[in-house]
Amino acid sequence: MSIVDLVHLSRSYGSDPEWVLAGGGNTSYKDDALLYIKASGFPLATITEAGFARMDRQSLQRIWDASYPRETQEREAAALADLMAARVAGEEKRPSVETLMHELFPYALVVHTHPALVNGLTCSHDGEAACRRLFGDDALWVPAIEPGYVLAQAMHTAAASYAERHGHAPRIAILQNHGLVVAADTGDEIDRLQRHVVDTVRRELAREPDMSVRLMDAELGSWVNRTRQAITAAIDATTDTEDVVFGTCPEVAARLESRSTFAPLAGAFTPDHIVYSGSMPLWIDDESDLDATLPAAIARYRDEYRVDPRIIAVRRRGVFAVAGSKSGSQTAYELFLDQVKIAAYAEAFGGARHLDPHLVAFIESWEVERYRKKMSTGGQ
Ligand SMILES: [Zn+2]
Repeated sequence: MSIVDLVHLSRSYGSDPEWVLAGGGNTSYKDDALLYIKASGFPLATITEAGFARMDRQSLQRIWDASYPRETQEREAAALADLMAARVAGEEKRPSVETLMHELFPYALVVHTHPALVNGLTCSHDGEAACRRLFGDDALWVPAIEPGYVLAQAMHTAAASYAERHGHAPRIAILQNHGLVVAADTGDEIDRLQRHVVDTVRRELAREPDMSVRLMDAELGSWVNRTRQAITAAIDATTDTEDVVFGTCPEVAARLESRSTFAPLAGAFTPDHIVYSGSMPLWIDDESDLDATLPAAIARYRDEYRVDPRIIAVRRRGVFAVAGSKSGSQTAYELFLDQVKIAAYAEAFGGARHLDPHLVAFIESWEVERYRKKMSTGGQ
């Protein structure tokens, strides 16, 4: 087992959209002295050995016992400074914000992903009960909490008591409104555990959402072009109508029937959704005369949320994504579709459950997430 196995494993999961979208997900390998963790700005799909930051494990473990300020921003800044200081001498890359979570599993390989299928369970009302029923003692359920340092500390404590009860550390952790962690000493064992989780969740589903793309007719095409112009005019950061992405599919169309069918999508499920498609879509109830009404709707949204909408959902028509550039808008749309799938999967587990507002606010202001977004959109 070596970092070569880690590169292989990372590329195989990173290039499969069932497992990893946009900048989400991270992987690591550890030996006795060092942890090799995916660095920010290196997508898993194409990562090489050079995309992993080398961390000194002793320094990482000192963070468990460190005491930090109570105030959120000061605490995060201090924990981040210690994380950066735990890099081995000469390491310049920025380790994943989830590095500490990798350190706490005493297995050589850790794969952390945000698969829509598993998030159908983690972002549902009955997620915890379902996790217990389906996986029993094989999985550690982790309630939603501030990501980064606080999440890692909570998992560290929970994993220690799990190990006391079971005589070994957990190999599967299922994180509410977040995703999945799988840890093992070999790549084959990682694959086996990942399959086990996904196959088990899939057996519970009553239906698979229809995400197939259909061609637009001429009438819809010209309406989309007019609306793109109205959006471009109303949102300063977007200067080219080509930057605005439009899409729909049968599952999206069913959600766009009314405000109530759309309700499961009116809120973010995981940090990824906040980072890429924003914490709240703009719902447009009346598709007519958007040239005239859209600027005011966007202005009202801006007043309420202090940002421009990234997802604009128009009743019975489709969804626009607008995030500064064509590739940014495409990613925003991709993450919106991820939410659509999660909402459908969550029906098997008592219905969709959004992130709590205080967690949304935390993630919106989290410095490290801003950094990740900047890297993913080509900054730095
Ligand atoms: Zn994560």
